[in-house]
Amino acid sequence: MKAITLHGVGDVRVESVADARIVDPTDVVVRITTSAICGSDLHQYHGRGATPGAPPLVEPGSVMGHEFMGVVEEVGPSVARVKKGDRIVAPFSISCGQCEWCRMRLPTQCVATGRAVFGGRFGKQYPGGQAERIRVPFADHMCETVPADMADEDAFFLGDILSTGYCCAENAGIRPGDSVAVFGAGPVGLLALQSAHLFGPARIFVVDRVGYRLKLAEELGGIPVNLDRGHPAEQLRALTGGRGPDAVLECVGHETPFAQSIQAVRPGGTVSSVGVYVEPLIGFPVREAFFKDLTLKMGICNARNYIVPLMGLIQAGRLAPTRIITHTIPLTDAPRGYTIFDRKEDQAIKVMLKP
Ligand SMILES: [Zn+2]
Ligand SMILES: [Zn+2]
Repeated sequence: MKAITLHGVGDVRVESVADARIVDPTDVVVRITTSAICGSDLHQYHGRGATPGAPPLVEPGSVMGHEFMGVVEEVGPSVARVKKGDRIVAPFSISCGQCEWCRMRLPTQCVATGRAVFGGRFGKQYPGGQAERIRVPFADHMCETVPADMADEDAFFLGDILSTGYCCAENAGIRPGDSVAVFGAGPVGLLALQSAHLFGPARIFVVDRVGYRLKLAEELGGIPVNLDRGHPAEQLRALTGGRGPDAVLECVGHETPFAQSIQAVRPGGTVSSVGVYVEPLIGFPVREAFFKDLTLKMGICNARNYIVPLMGLIQAGRLAPTRIITHTIPLTDAPRGYTIFDRKEDQAIKVMLKP
């Protein structure tokens, strides 16, 4: 089957790899109908997080991607609930559904898989979803059936970035009338913006410097704050009568926006961070965080928990995740997709792949 494989920094290729197949009796094999390139794929693409001189974290030639959906084609002998022909979406992290952490609704901490992510480099290695087919382990727990009247694109983001954006907003404890700032107008930030509206804030500012992304943020009901016009904490204070936003949603995953989020939030406010950090935070403003009495919530989203409730919000028209899609290209064109997404060329926000 065809798949997108990683060979080194900036080197993704379309290759023929071994077909996905049933390995454990609880597996299914899914024929992928839609996949996508995620911001966190770019960490691997850039070789971030690896120790200089050490071997690469991902085996050269491993299949990329953790965002996918499709139709079940083969079913392992112990799978009871999922049937051949089911159209399913699955979360980006792989969990057994039965270990201590899974039972505590923390599937990202699953001990059975060692916190594995499809196409990822931690825990057990499972090939990714930028491919024609994928093996989905623990299928009865992992797979959620998608209603026939829901387009792929509507359901697709439940597996990762819509759940992540929603979870970022939920963790921020937004109350009606609050002012909120979202750092980062990338795919997750824009979905965090959509999600934040559901909690009833008076105003949501969106901080970025990429004009076309700020424009979409504005169309989605955000108030753009351009980083090129001064320190975001100062701009946000000026926009909130000198106090700073009640909640800050950090959706970038770099040291600078993390520090700026802490600097921007009002005393006693909440910073909620879902950006993926792969390097140590040298500039953590711990003194400011302490004296502000702030609440910090950060972490990887337990997306499995959000798939069912958020599906209802999409069907009711309360969330419109397809608004962030700017490109739909063939899987075999994915190397170009990585380039334009990485370099923010051609006004790229979310690049979808069709096998
Ligand atoms: Zn992702
Ligand atoms: Zn588990």
